[in-house]
Amino acid sequence: MAVKSKKIYLDEKEMPRSWYNIQADMPNKPKPPLHPGTHQPVGPDDLAPLFPMELIKQEVSTEKYIEIPEEVFDIYKIWRPTPLVRAEALEKALDTPAKIYYKNESVSYAGSHKPNTAVAQAYYNYKEGIKRITTETGAGQWGSALSFATQHFGIELKVFMVKVSFEQKPYRKFMMNTWNADVVPSPSELTDSGKKILAQYPDSPGSLGIAISEAVEMAAKDPDTRYSLGSVLNHVLMHQTIIGEEALVQMQKAEAEADVVIGCFGGGSNFAGIAFPFVRQNLSNGKNIQIIAAEPASCPKLTRGRFQYDFGDTVGLTPLIAMYTLGHNFVPAKIHAGGLRYHGAGSIVSQLLKDKLIEAQSVKQLETFEAGVLFSRTEGIIPAPETCHAIAVAIREAQKAKEEGKEKTILFNLSGHGMIDLAAYDHYFSGKLENHEVTDEEITRSLDELKIGV
Ligand SMILES: *Cc1c(COP(=O)(O)O)cnc(C)c1O
Repeated sequence: MAVKSKKIYLDEKEMPRSWYNIQADMPNKPKPPLHPGTHQPVGPDDLAPLFPMELIKQEVSTEKYIEIPEEVFDIYKIWRPTPLVRAEALEKALDTPAKIYYKNESVSYAGSHKPNTAVAQAYYNYKEGIKRITTETGAGQWGSALSFATQHFGIELKVFMVKVSFEQKPYRKFMMNTWNADVVPSPSELTDSGKKILAQYPDSPGSLGIAISEAVEMAAKDPDTRYSLGSVLNHVLMHQTIIGEEALVQMQKAEAEADVVIGCFGGGSNFAGIAFPFVRQNLSNGKNIQIIAAEPASCPKLTRGRFQYDFGDTVGLTPLIAMYTLGHNFVPAKIHAGGLRYHGAGSIVSQLLKDKLIEAQSVKQLETFEAGVLFSRTEGIIPAPETCHAIAVAIREAQKAKEEGKEKTILFNLSGHGMIDLAAYDHYFSGKLENHEVTDEEITRSLDELKIGV
């Protein structure tokens, strides 16, 4: 069957020139991050060793729109605007009256949405004369996005990559090397945090939590070095809103109005990117668009977690963030959607969920791959395992439309392609993939370990 999907392009001249800061419109503002020791709100000075001042300002800004700097816009133009596509072949396969659109963020150099913030963060560091950046990466999506961005601005990048991925998933490491980044397996001997872990567990496979500790420690100790994070934080979510701002214009051009907007959810950045401009339609323009975050059933912080202050990392070095969390010691099953295996959610998305301005659904692993395979065979793009969660929820909504005999317009974010994750598809086809369900006891146990008291 031929792919008949209809692309809605934007002219460069029609591209939105600002990011949208939803903090300006939220009825209840996100709670402030707290110092891990004193439990007092952290000020700009506490964060200055880690982030450039402009990003710290964006983190707490209540200005509604922040202009995209010319230098950032110029790099965006390499792959932006990204196509909005009507998934007609998928609609046909589902025999649904629903119209399904997707925003294709897989066309960026890294193959995902992550460059939208990587380029912005590298730029603001460059403007403040920063020479080096440290970061962590799991399977390498974030590290690869940041590598190209930092080398563009002449900044050195050191990436602490979770050791087991460093050894078993080399392809994104090769991308990072090609873009001139220095990639080290974590835990490493380069930091006290790494040495401490290695002394205790010489064979440690590493974890995102340990890698964050190493990257933060190295940045904090050197005045010319800053740290960069690829999700969760307010400024990161804001940089991603270019996705939804473009999609709004493209939907108008297609003479379509979204009834449902869907994004997969790890720390919340691509979900926020596609969704926040549509939340604005609800808050300011009297619309009633359903906004759904799609999370893995094996890491269900939004659907089964608790709203409270928790650490952003496993070790407990970061500020405390008011969030839906499963507890920072929660270890999710090793699903292939590595980018969604995070215990918490950003504070803005958490507040929006608490206020019922967005909703969440969880999806089990096999349903996500079933959705990803159907999408591959109809629309031709093999999606990242993370993205398959958004597709699965879009398909659920399309099937619901069919049952109810209702027309409905669904928009989801195609956060990335899966060309470097093909081993996951191989496991799926050979029947090696499993569904993982977390028990209530496991969640309660993990949450009861939190003795933070705020
Ligand atoms: C990193 C990643 C995600 C999850 O991160 P968010 O910050 O929640 O968006 C989702 N999809 C892809 C393709 C990713 O690389």
